[in-house]
Amino acid sequence: MIQFPPIPVEHCVSSRLAEVDFNQLEFGKYMSDHMLVCHYSGKEWKTPAIVPYGPITMQPTALALHYGQSVFEGMKAFKLADGRASIFRIRKHWDRLQRTLARMCMPPVPFDLFEEGLKQLIALDRNWIPSAEGSSLYIRPLVFATEDRFGVKVSDEYMFIIMTGPVPPFYPRPLRVKVEDTYSRACKGGTGAAKCAGNYGGAFYATQLAREQGFDQVLWTDLSPELHIEESGTMNVFFVIGDKVVTPPLSETILEGVTRDSVLTLCGKLGIEVEQRPIPAMELLRAHRDGTLREAFGTGTAAVTAPICAIGVREATIELPDYSEDAVCKRLFRAMSDIQRGKAPDTEGWLTTV
Ligand SMILES: *Cc1c(COP(=O)(O)O)cnc(C)c1O
Repeated sequence: MIQFPPIPVEHCVSSRLAEVDFNQLEFGKYMSDHMLVCHYSGKEWKTPAIVPYGPITMQPTALALHYGQSVFEGMKAFKLADGRASIFRIRKHWDRLQRTLARMCMPPVPFDLFEEGLKQLIALDRNWIPSAEGSSLYIRPLVFATEDRFGVKVSDEYMFIIMTGPVPPFYPRPLRVKVEDTYSRACKGGTGAAKCAGNYGGAFYATQLAREQGFDQVLWTDLSPELHIEESGTMNVFFVIGDKVVTPPLSETILEGVTRDSVLTLCGKLGIEVEQRPIPAMELLRAHRDGTLREAFGTGTAAVTAPICAIGVREATIELPDYSEDAVCKRLFRAMSDIQRGKAPDTEGWLTTV
């Protein structure tokens, strides 16, 4: 096997670690000392470098700012009992990044660069991984177009950055979600399955309206008369109906969550039956009336599973009972967290240890 060469490191002059109160972390507030930066031009990725985290320079004409070639990933690393770090499902995140990049006419990032970039960066900033139960190091890989010109075109130049930062345990209070019947996050033939920046910008407005109506998030639908459920905000969505876990099948309007995939695998291991099929909003109302709708929850890297306590469907609101520790969403949360933190065997080979 060819060894990826050590990435050149420019160390920060003084670490900012001492400025961080690890008992008062907030999601997205602190960035670790270093970041990985790699430039693409002349049809190739140049030598990457690990440099102090800080401002970057680019021209105001950088194409990403105008025409939206900007994509990202969201991943996590955890501190293991022996002090080493485990990075969760590198290959799966890379796979998705490749599909996203291809959809946006952006050049693929070689797997070696992605994996070694992550490993070397996280090994260097290992002390930034919080050790408190439930906390982790959030990792944000980002690729965007940097070519400077006015014309509408596919950029010939890009920047790939990996930055990280410590985040606290994410135990969201149960969410109130509103079935969206006016706005769309993704459409047939669109970019919904790609993790691109524009999908987020386009989703804020509907979410803001839902907040004004007393909800936390929208439950995106296909806007068909049946209002088939797609996702919950920026998470995939699952329901427990009767004794089955039900989630919409992947499609071009659904982002393929790594957590979604992991949760499906864990359902198999826990002996929980799963159905991937279209879910009309009416079915949720009916199941609630019949008493068979037991749980609703979102899945994503930040929260793992995020319980949903209320679902607004047009004029009706479904209120779900509180979740006990035996609830499927709680069991899945524990099963995932145990693997991520090395407390349960990593039978699927999801962890990379550095
Ligand atoms: C990132 C994302 C998810 C969740 O993906 P994970 O890999 O599980 O974090 C779900 N939906 C959307 C729209 C997303 O951008």
